[in-house]
Amino acid sequence: MDYLPIFLRVQNRLAVVIGGGAVAARKAELLLKCGARVRLVAPELGAGTQDLLRQPTAAAHMTHLCAPFAAQHLEGAALVIAATDSAALNAQIAHSARARGVPVNVVDDADHSDFILPAIVDRSPLIVAVSTAGSAPVLARRVREQLEALLPARLGALARFAGSQRERVNELLPPALRRPFWERFFGSAANLERLGADDAAAHQALSTELQAFSARPDSAGLGEVYLIGAGPGDPDLLTLRALQLLQQADVLLYDRLVSPAILERARREATRVFVGKDVGEATLSQERINALLIEHARRGLKVARLKGGDPFIFGRGGEEIAALARHGIPVTVVPGITAALGAAAAAQIPLTLRDVSQSVTFAPGHVAVADTLDWPALARSGHTVVFYMAMAQLEGLTERLRRAGAPAERPVALIAQATLPTQRVVHGTLADIAELARAGGYGAPALLFVGEVTRVVQQQALESLEPCLEGVA
Ligand code: SAH
Repeated sequence: MDYLPIFLRVQNRLAVVIGGGAVAARKAELLLKCGARVRLVAPELGAGTQDLLRQPTAAAHMTHLCAPFAAQHLEGAALVIAATDSAALNAQIAHSARARGVPVNVVDDADHSDFILPAIVDRSPLIVAVSTAGSAPVLARRVREQLEALLPARLGALARFAGSQRERVNELLPPALRRPFWERFFGSAANLERLGADDAAAHQALSTELQAFSARPDSAGLGEVYLIGAGPGDPDLLTLRALQLLQQADVLLYDRLVSPAILERARREATRVFVGKDVGEATLSQERINALLIEHARRGLKVARLKGGDPFIFGRGGEEIAALARHGIPVTVVPGITAALGAAAAAQIPLTLRDVSQSVTFAPGHVAVADTLDWPALARSGHTVVFYMAMAQLEGLTERLRRAGAPAERPVALIAQATLPTQRVVHGTLADIAELARAGGYGAPALLFVGEVTRVVQQQALESLEPCLEGVA
């Protein structure tokens, strides 16, 4: 290691920043955030430093010396940052600082620096610092970005909360049990969720866990379930929270609709269990899946239950959380981008559009529920309907709509494998879509979009092409 990583306390100590540009502003801002007093030395100020000086904390804790740098400006400094645009001046500042024994950083110049500033992920009081010892700052920033995505935003609040509860835990638990207790506490995504809702809930949860833990330390083994919406297929459409929990899971139970590319984003060591459910037909029955979830959680594992799209839209997520609740197993639900939203974006079909469609309905397209749907309402104009599980009964669907009053020429679009590299889109009408799908060899999973909105973008594209086409003719 070329550098000693340390966290320096600078509260109420003087930091001197030399430079009036945007970089100086950023450094000064960081120092202020850490409670330092800042002396900014610059004969001229750019917009960034001017803005900073106008902010309340800066007004109280920062002074501006409007002068070219001179060695006496370092008087009383605990640290110095040289951020001018002149390499010669920066070197001179470094020299002066060293002569006084004050640690100095020259921005982007490790050779003249005693310390370097890492890229940071701030979840105060939790701080992650990343450094490549000055050899590849861009790489450090990339690592930082990856960590940003990985670390939940509420981690800081959780750390603060845990800090405030340490004494209580120490009173109640003997030393040997404290660590396993905290392991369990921080390992539970459900705790993070509760804390987000409100501190009282987190307090209550901690009390319950403490009691359970001191009564039966072996209950530390109780696992939990993450019910995760995996989105329509493209792994880039996973939420940050889904990714975070996928990194924590010990076991993954996933459906047919969860693409291999998504499974790749999970922890390498996690066991993958295919429970292949699709449109009604199930490889495993819902009861068996519920039982598997409970069984794994009981063994103390973190179980990620991955579902295509959103777990609460035609996903039987409600039944799974009910079964888990009956067994007292904590569940965290992570919403996903449901297939209709993913497909609409991919095919550029606005689901609502002023003057065209004011509302949207997601309806199941398979025969089992067809009789319970309000077909006249679905057939109405000025409205968009998206049918899930549309393939099996495509012809029956369009016929039902027409019988309920929808005109044969109502525009529709069928979108299969939305957001995946194999995505296909076909536009048509209620009268011809079934034939078009057959001819094109369309298969599940697919959605049928019904309504004027499916034609709008196409039409606009055609209209904008018309002048060019005329020119060609
Ligand atoms: N919970 C899921 C839906 C499960 S029902 C969600 O919120 O999206 C299964 C149906 O979803 C499929 O029959 C199909 O109609 C639709 N579906 C899921 N992924 C899809 C995709 N990538 N492209 C098109 N339709 C999809």
